[in-house]
Amino acid sequence: MRQILLFGLLVFAYVKGECPAMYQRFQWGAAPPPQTIPMPPTVPNVVIHHSATRTCTSVSDCFALIKSFQTNHMTERGWDDIAYSFLIGGDGNLYEGRGWGRQVQGTQPPEWNYLGYTFCLIGTFEDELPTAEQLERLNNLINCAWGDGHVPENYTLRGHRDVYAGTACPGQAFYDQIQTWPHYNASLATSN
Ligand SMILES: [Zn+2]
Repeated sequence: MRQILLFGLLVFAYVKGECPAMYQRFQWGAAPPPQTIPMPPTVPNVVIHHSATRTCTSVSDCFALIKSFQTNHMTERGWDDIAYSFLIGGDGNLYEGRGWGRQVQGTQPPEWNYLGYTFCLIGTFEDELPTAEQLERLNNLINCAWGDGHVPENYTLRGHRDVYAGTACPGQAFYDQIQTWPHYNASLATSN
């Protein structure tokens, strides 16, 4: 009995412990989306992005950059929110974008609105890699995603350019690296 109780506590602590603390939407001054369309409870993919901008090294600076991404996505591109589910700053912090469980309409190709979660590391990683802290936070976030059932344990990881040919995202250096990761697979069909 005692062993069962202990096991239960450990499992609880493990799952919860894998989800890193993050800054919430209201903290960076997110505009409300015009509509809220849910994601399926579990989606098969994780899609990796870079922001293709400068990085940010303080919370206030990251807030300002993320707010500018949302404005760009909603005003310039006509999407209904910031497209990234979560973002990781050059300061090593995790920031909520559209968050769990929500699609963003308007992005292409349209099926990717509900096929995967999009994680954006802030910076440009054409010639250099994200910081070790950013990569560790990404690892925490992915473990959290499958630990809480947002993606299956056998999720597929791809770079943005694998699902949309019109982009160099997430940058050549970073793209070279993610292709060495065990869940990477560019070639699977885009089925749900
Ligand atoms: Zn991208």
